[in-house]
Amino acid sequence: MAVYSYSKLETFKSCPLRYKFTYIDRIKRPGEGIEAFMGKRIHEVLEKLYADLQYKKQNSLNELLADYESRWKANWHDNVNIKKEGLTQDNYFEMGRECIRAYYERYQPFNQAITLGLERKVVFFLDPEKRFQMVGYIDRLDQRPDGTYEIHDYKSSNTCPEQTDLDADEQLALYQIALKQAFTDAKDVELVWHYLVFDKEFRSKRTPEQLEDIKRTTIETIMQIEAAKEFEPSESSLCDWCDYPDLCPRRKHFYIIESLPMNEYANETGYTLVNKLAELEDKKKALVKEIDGEIVKIKEALIAYAKAEGVDVIRGATKKAKVKIEEVEKYPYAGTPERKELEALLASAGCLEDVMKASLDLGKLAKAVKSNIWSPELIAHVKKFAVRETECSVTLSKLSERDLILDEEMSY
Ligand code: SF4
Repeated sequence: MAVYSYSKLETFKSCPLRYKFTYIDRIKRPGEGIEAFMGKRIHEVLEKLYADLQYKKQNSLNELLADYESRWKANWHDNVNIKKEGLTQDNYFEMGRECIRAYYERYQPFNQAITLGLERKVVFFLDPEKRFQMVGYIDRLDQRPDGTYEIHDYKSSNTCPEQTDLDADEQLALYQIALKQAFTDAKDVELVWHYLVFDKEFRSKRTPEQLEDIKRTTIETIMQIEAAKEFEPSESSLCDWCDYPDLCPRRKHFYIIESLPMNEYANETGYTLVNKLAELEDKKKALVKEIDGEIVKIKEALIAYAKAEGVDVIRGATKKAKVKIEEVEKYPYAGTPERKELEALLASAGCLEDVMKASLDLGKLAKAVKSNIWSPELIAHVKKFAVRETECSVTLSKLSERDLILDEEMSY
């Protein structure tokens, strides 16, 4: 039976292909992001803090910071990746140090509750038939003097969540399900997140109904994974932290180009083809813009010609241009104060519905004004909102057969 973890399910939800590389193909990559590296060191130090407290030994802040430094140095390796430009190992080291300092000062002497477990492994089922099994690790499990259990999670993310995000979070809620299976007295459970970078603590609770809902949706995700035949890539900001850009069809070419020296990638086939296509697309756009500009000028000239010669159809070799010059009444645009005033007037007269589609329909309004369906006073009032404008248009059409017959007759 496959066993699932919260992070395994989240990987599938965010990118099925990454899930396949990680959990089905089990492709191991030597590197790790510095954010994960820093997070691990902080977790280790806080674990030590509470483990020693169980033996009634309270480390001083300086002792813990020294422990952090020695763990950092002992674990550092050449494959720790720093993706954010302009940041160095020292920046992350200091950030982690500050997280520990702030946490220590906030919670010392750490006597808020009794620690029941550190990095405690929980294995639990989502269904009574025990078909869907999950595993997880609780950073710290506490019990308060009033009997309430607390599931603590340390986060070293540099994005501060909102309370609503955590009220909807499923990871600790799943651990609450585990807790209820392991401890019969786990009636009151509080979920506690420590966002260390911001020195912020968040708390949340789940109702039995919410826990049932989480069980159901988690089972649905597992069933989706087990039924999956194709594992499609799904791009997101998480791609920056993905270990498989060299295998992913969406990112592989980026990876190839980024790993080639400038003089080589400039000649790479895909790279040059895309550049050529982009160049042609740009040329096409510029050309279309230029031609559109010329069309506008010619239409203006045709309108001027039609006015000067007193014609409204102008004949060419194979086509004719119809020039329409008309006075139209323009009503105010949506969003303007005048438009709001007009709508209010129609609404107060009980006539707004006559001229509505999804919003006020100006075509319907013009018709209503012309056909006098409203009182003369209302029509006069509505007309005050209209501005008279001259509208000109030029439309081109093929010469008709009749135009061509006339042509022939003329030539006799
Ligand atoms: S690079 Fe992005 S899309 Fe490709 S496998 Fe990784 S996460 Fe998925």
